Amino acid sequence: MSDVFLPRHLGLKAKDQETMLRFLGCPDLEALITQVVPAHLRTTTPLHTPPAATESQALTQVKVLAQRNQTWKSYQGMGYYACITPTVIQRNVLEHPGWYTAYTPYQAEIAQGRLEALFNFQTLITELTGLDIANASLLDEATAAAEAMILSYQVHQQQRRTFWVDRHCWPQTLAVLQTRAEAVGIDLQVAETHAFNLDETACGCLLQYPNSHGVLVDPQPVFTRAQTVGALGIMAADPLSLTQLKPPGAWGADIAIGSTQRLGVPLGYGGPHAAYFATRSAYKRHIPGRMVGLSKDSQGRPALRLALQTREQHIRRERATSNICTAQVLLAVMASMYAVYHGAEGLRGIAQEIHHKAKALAMGCTKLGYDVLSQDFFDTIFLTLNDMQRRELHQRFTTAKINLNWFYTEGVGINLDETTTWTDVQKLLSLFYGQETLPFALGELIAQTSVHNQKVWMRTDNFLAQDVFQKYHSETEFLRYVYRLQSRDLSLTNAMMPLGSCTMKLNATSEMIPVSWPEFNAIHPFAPLEQTQGYHQLFEDLTTWLADITGLPGVSFQPNAGSQGELTGLLVIRKYYQQRGEPQRRVCLIPQSAHGTNPASAVMAGFQVVPVACDNQGNVDEDDLQTKASQYADQLAALMLTYPSTHGVFETGVRELCQIVHGYGGQVYLDGANLNALVGLCRPGELGFDVCHVNLHKTFCIPHGGGGPGMGPIAVAEHLREFLPTHPVVVTGGQSSIGTVAAAPWSSASILPISWMYMVMMGAEGLTQATRIAILNANYVAQRLDPYFPVLYRGKHGWVAHECILDLRPLKIQTGIEVEDVAKRLMDYGFHAPTMSWPVAGTLMVEPTESESLAELNRFCEAMIGIYHEAMAIAQGQADPQDNVLKNAPHPAEIVATNAWHHSYSREQAAYPVPGLREVKFWPPVARIDNAYGDRNLVCSCPPMTDYPG
Ligand SMILES: *Cc1c(COP(=O)(O)O)cnc(C)c1O
Repeated sequence: MSDVFLPRHLGLKAKDQETMLRFLGCPDLEALITQVVPAHLRTTTPLHTPPAATESQALTQVKVLAQRNQTWKSYQGMGYYACITPTVIQRNVLEHPGWYTAYTPYQAEIAQGRLEALFNFQTLITELTGLDIANASLLDEATAAAEAMILSYQVHQQQRRTFWVDRHCWPQTLAVLQTRAEAVGIDLQVAETHAFNLDETACGCLLQYPNSHGVLVDPQPVFTRAQTVGALGIMAADPLSLTQLKPPGAWGADIAIGSTQRLGVPLGYGGPHAAYFATRSAYKRHIPGRMVGLSKDSQGRPALRLALQTREQHIRRERATSNICTAQVLLAVMASMYAVYHGAEGLRGIAQEIHHKAKALAMGCTKLGYDVLSQDFFDTIFLTLNDMQRRELHQRFTTAKINLNWFYTEGVGINLDETTTWTDVQKLLSLFYGQETLPFALGELIAQTSVHNQKVWMRTDNFLAQDVFQKYHSETEFLRYVYRLQSRDLSLTNAMMPLGSCTMKLNATSEMIPVSWPEFNAIHPFAPLEQTQGYHQLFEDLTTWLADITGLPGVSFQPNAGSQGELTGLLVIRKYYQQRGEPQRRVCLIPQSAHGTNPASAVMAGFQVVPVACDNQGNVDEDDLQTKASQYADQLAALMLTYPSTHGVFETGVRELCQIVHGYGGQVYLDGANLNALVGLCRPGELGFDVCHVNLHKTFCIPHGGGGPGMGPIAVAEHLREFLPTHPVVVTGGQSSIGTVAAAPWSSASILPISWMYMVMMGAEGLTQATRIAILNANYVAQRLDPYFPVLYRGKHGWVAHECILDLRPLKIQTGIEVEDVAKRLMDYGFHAPTMSWPVAGTLMVEPTESESLAELNRFCEAMIGIYHEAMAIAQGQADPQDNVLKNAPHPAEIVATNAWHHSYSREQAAYPVPGLREVKFWPPVARIDNAYGDRNLVCSCPPMTDYPG
């Protein structure tokens, strides 16, 4: 059939495969795989996932699932709101591969577009919150609250253990705080804000504005008291309400957090959405997550890049400010574009309308004899009800297919949003009245309520005056702005992105299509389960398939990134030992080659990190593991291992490593980032692992979104299943659960159809074939490039796994050219660099994935070889050691086209080193960026108009 998916997903044609195998000296693919993957580690049972469906068949099947979800009108609120995604944003950002297939903006010169969008996001947040500095997104509101709590704890050197929190925060925020506080030993006190007993033992306090019942409570007394005792004041605030209300900064808050979902991002049954985090400059070095800062390029022109990266887990490891890696870039871009599209006036108008309708609704309900909890609200009113009223109204609204917030037994919450019309208000009132015709005219209510909030709450300052929020309000201008930014970024639409460990494979269009369907994206995360049967079938399917693939039967979809999966998995292990009466087991062994999130997550889980050495082959040193395991025998909780290892080979002794740890009573955690090398060939559960996370945004085709969203579900062995995450609003998880780790029960549920589609279209054999081809491609690249850049580590028979590490240290000794120079020069060739200097400094880690064609692999290899010769020209005295194509890379058009060309090489060499570039050339928009300058002169938001020269 014409729409069979496998040959679309795999880049190689049969004859290319033959060519490559011949090049490698292998008779056939299976012969290669047999040599790469040690026989005793191979699974003997093929995958049980369903046989392959074609693209159209799979779309039909997923439509059937979608139709089992019911899109009732929701007034539930609780941190999630229906909103209108401007179609120009939906089509040209959310559904545009130029945005969604990009990688995290580490190579800043070719990421200026999304860096600018994120810079706008940070500006939006600092303006709305009235605070100095904001990051470029966090995973969700509840984890952002946890990050704020942990920041408070850290800035007090962990000397103050008490943290006070408003009882009227969202239940999911309270639940996540509980889990995270317990893990690191913070004493969480939940109380009414007036009952906060703030003293010198308190590191901070958090209140919600407006609170869980929609009520605005004066935060001044709490923050004044907090200031007096030196505790941090934190506000969880709805960003849309902040266009109307006095902002956190003006109340004296030290930190503000919240969700930017309602700024144009669909509900998605819980996610993905971008949380925000803003604080005062004083805490800039403590901010979790990524932050974009302004710097300058080698020509002195302004250029953006990630700022203060030394805070991040990649560098600080167990001393990092947080474990966040993948965040929510695509959603932060959407929210910032929503603000660019509407501008300050537009946002204010949206908020005012909502507030007006809420006022009318409140007045109407009062007239109908209901008891409205408070008159100080923004968009949510709460009616106090007796049991009988509650039951009757619940029935009435259910019959009308309307969801209200029935979570609180004392009454009902009604939240209005951007989509609410006056007809909706009328309908709500009729239902509350119990009759179609109201005893008063809605028009009168409308006229009587068009007044603003009470003065004390009103925002009076001017905000979002920056140019970018003024200029692009016509669709023509806006569309061009979106495309201008997008064209400054290199993504999978331009070239392969051979990032080791990140698995930048195809994100197929058919996989992406269902994400835009209302049956998946217009559903509130707390909608009753009867309305979300399609989703639950999808979760069940994915659970069955992931359990089969990993060999670990218990699955939780709550963690929304790999880092969160790590934290969750380790908390599961910790709980297991608590339950067995061995709470002292808190030591986590982590090999030196591990990803930075591993030690950072272990610390967040309250573990003590003990490093394990690697030998000169990159393998975990079995003797050192033995020594450490026995040294900490009574305290040993876990070993965290990446397999195949981060140095790109299948270590033959992995079973033995697991056995050693089990022998001392510990559990083994698999960092599943490299699952793309295992699917169908090995099952982690069979190898001896007890827990693993799966980065669905790597192996299972969720696009990277330029740095998020992602999904990091965990799979656990039977004995750990009862500890899986639960949720305070929707029933899920194990009997003796660790608690809640994300705001939504299934976190970023709306992107799960992507992985579902992938598995359905590939089929069991296709999934396994993808693994084989990924391994073939990696070995092909390794073999081709080895004469120029030696492959650092190989397995027993001389092969690599699905990625390889190229050693550039010899080149540096010979030529003075560094990894960074090669990475920047690759931009001139139209490529994104492989993973730089990790896990070994001075190397590049290449992962081609199964989706690239032989032509593209060759194009990449030829670029690398071209660069090698350019570097060797320096050693041979033909090129200047300082003024050369590598040290000066990348070369933007502006430099190449300049009249004054004073370099020792030609413009042609600079811009067109290989002939293919004449056909299509990606021009890096800026020259090499000065990172240190930007950190010394930190600027993380757009200056007001007047600060720009000219
Ligand atoms: C990507 C990666 C992680 C982190 O996963 P996120 O989803 O980005 O949080 C952890 N370990 C390894 C080896 C990785 O490659």
